[in-house]
Amino acid sequence: MKYFIKTFGCVQNHADSKRISSYLEAQGMKPAKSYETADYIVINTCMIRESAENRVYGLINNLKKMKNEKSKMKIIVTGCMSGMAVKDKTGKFLKLLKSRMPGADEFIPIDEIGFDTTPLTTNEKTAFVPISNGCNNFCTYCVVPYTRGREKSLPYEDIIDECKKLKKLGYNNVTLLGQNVNSYGADLKIKNLKPIYVKHLGRHRIPTLFPYLLEEVAKLGFDKVDFTSSNPWDFSDELIDVIARNKNITRTIHLPVQSGDDNVLKRMNRWYTADEYLALISKIKAQISNIKFTTDIIVGFCGETDGEFKNTVKLCKKVGFTWAFVSVYSKRPMAVASNKIYEDDVPHTVKDKRWKILDDLINKPHLKKKIK
Ligand code: SF4
Repeated sequence: MKYFIKTFGCVQNHADSKRISSYLEAQGMKPAKSYETADYIVINTCMIRESAENRVYGLINNLKKMKNEKSKMKIIVTGCMSGMAVKDKTGKFLKLLKSRMPGADEFIPIDEIGFDTTPLTTNEKTAFVPISNGCNNFCTYCVVPYTRGREKSLPYEDIIDECKKLKKLGYNNVTLLGQNVNSYGADLKIKNLKPIYVKHLGRHRIPTLFPYLLEEVAKLGFDKVDFTSSNPWDFSDELIDVIARNKNITRTIHLPVQSGDDNVLKRMNRWYTADEYLALISKIKAQISNIKFTTDIIVGFCGETDGEFKNTVKLCKKVGFTWAFVSVYSKRPMAVASNKIYEDDVPHTVKDKRWKILDDLINKPHLKKKIK
């Protein structure tokens, strides 16, 4: 049997696909070079935007034609769309997916297809190591808590062992992955490691073991240790100290802000204000020299006024992000914001205009001077 995996979406999905390869090879399958030569096709899906979802429907419908000529071929759908379908107790979403993807044979959540397997190693120099899966935060625009479920940390020792193996195999760089890496370990109890309670932004948060894990990985001697993604409200003082004292930990921190306006942040269920975000940035800059920041921003979220958008532009200018993933808000099934609590009322033309302003400001620095 030969398999072929098509991956949509984020770096975490790409890392998951390496585990799926490893899992399938352990069952005796061999990689195929194309869909045409494969008997077992895995589509690792993404739901972050409607366009990503539509690409999956299009692909599976094309593959169905191929399947009609090759009866042995199996099409497996995993990743966010399957997670959502299987976790939706009403069964409505699974029914919808089946009707829109008649070519698919099975829908398997990501944690049931090789998630515990060591990933297939390649000749790349950077390894991606998932440390947790899922999220407890329920930002109102996001489907992750529904597609991947609640945050579950992978065992501490297993992560260290995996990083040691990667080091021996010659990997120079490692990136630790999770939807919210800096809350890693809230669900674990490790002897001799006292959980750290984040007190940033004036609120007590859940305990975390991430600073210990990051430092232990850094001490294994990689040239570079990176991590993504971080939530501003879980960024502990201890984490800043660990980064400051280990020179091989990244000096470019990805810290999603999503909006620079307090009211929009509230509607998004993001638990910080623009000032608190800026205070965190200043604190990190004060303790770590040459630090740079990248971010994620959503424009045109439900009810975003011109004034609220301008606050985001203002915040971006203050931080001086070196790069940003700017996306236009689109309604996602099951996410709280799409559940009739807010209206997706910003016209497309306005969303596109705001997207361009931020993309030009952050990602095309040669245009910066022209943006007021
Ligand atoms: S923190 Fe918010 S945006 Fe990030 S995965 Fe969790 S719910 Fe989604």
